[in-house]
Amino acid sequence: MSVTSPITIVGGGLAGLALAAGLRRSLVPVTVHEAGSYPRHRVCGEFLSGLRQETLNNLGIASCFDGAAYHSSVRWFQKGAGLSDHRLPEPAMALSRYRLDRRLCEHVRELGAVVVEKSRLPRRLEEGTVWAAGRVPRKGEWIGVKCHVTGGLELDSDLEMHLGTNGYMGMAEVEDGRINVCGLFRLDRSLRGNKAGALLLSYLGCGGHASLVERLRHAAVDEESCCAMAGFALGWQRETPGQLAIGDAEAMIAPFTGNGMTMALQSAELAVPLLVDWSRGHVTWENCQSEIREKLRGMFRRRMAVSCAVNPLLVRPVAQKWIGAFARRGLVPVRSLLELVR
Ligand SMILES: Cc1cc2nc3c(=O)[nH]c(=O)nc-3n(C[C@H](O)[C@H](O)[C@H](O)COP(=O)(O)OP(=O)(O)OC[C@H]3O[C@@H](n4cnc5c(N)ncnc54)[C@H](O)[C@@H]3O)c2cc1C
Repeated sequence: MSVTSPITIVGGGLAGLALAAGLRRSLVPVTVHEAGSYPRHRVCGEFLSGLRQETLNNLGIASCFDGAAYHSSVRWFQKGAGLSDHRLPEPAMALSRYRLDRRLCEHVRELGAVVVEKSRLPRRLEEGTVWAAGRVPRKGEWIGVKCHVTGGLELDSDLEMHLGTNGYMGMAEVEDGRINVCGLFRLDRSLRGNKAGALLLSYLGCGGHASLVERLRHAAVDEESCCAMAGFALGWQRETPGQLAIGDAEAMIAPFTGNGMTMALQSAELAVPLLVDWSRGHVTWENCQSEIREKLRGMFRRRMAVSCAVNPLLVRPVAQKWIGAFARRGLVPVRSLLELVR
């Protein structure tokens, strides 16, 4: 009789829950520890760029995306003025994390995984433990702010991307006619708002988006959905020797790519067969861990390098001037850039 060792997953976000779903398909015993509880809103553009149906099928989670919106057209703006329009190579899904994470949690429970909510585990390096706890908390120069709008806001294209002097922001419809408004800004401690929605308007106002602030002031904002997150750095996350990490815990790609959630799902997809092998005693933990890490590095190297190079340009006023001038003449190779960050 073959022995199946259990896997413990720390973090029940996209990476952790998708991994749990994939492992349960091979009947590996899984426990997920999640510091928070479901459902909950998360700072995220909720726009899935570059995600293949094959990944969802391999993880067995396609049904969790039912009802997602599909988007093709993108319009870029600079401080309210239209810059350029393009179409995505293939339609991208958009679905709120409020709905998606809850569905994934229900799904993996149905498959027999144990999901323990309000359970924050300390870092540990035990065999069979996968770290999927998201960003590594540290001093960083960014703040992410998001809220849902439930009415009174019309979009000019499926996805509106707005560049300002202190960051950028995207707006796209998710499910049920809700519009997700989410931005990444340079952290400015002088900006305050007693609620995340007010904070978002402060950052937008400061970034020179007067017309956008006006549009949002007249829109119906779901206050419950407003949230903000600071204390992170983009790029490869600090390596903890001996720890197997997936998703944002391994690499945090710049949000303009809309590819972070896809990476979380792809890293789970990549890890499943190797963890199943370990669970069945076919490989040692050290080999399993180093193979996953090497494959993740190989898979994400190019998109991480390109996004880390482009992100600072999008938030620097001088670089933005040049980007604006080129974009207005149709000289920014948006499609090629998109291919490089997915
Ligand atoms: C401003 C902004 C906009 C973004 N927009 C997009 C976008 O449009 N499209 C896109 O694809 N990506 C976007 N992203 C990135 C995307 O949100 C992440 O890449 C994705 O959430 C990563 O999933 P994850 O499961 O690795 O981490 P998370 O979703 O962060 O999940 C980690 C989970 O671990 C839990 N946890 C943390 N510590 C512990 C602990 N010690 N014990 C137990 N549990 C713990 C947390 O509560 C959390 O639920 C954006 C990010 C930002 C900052």
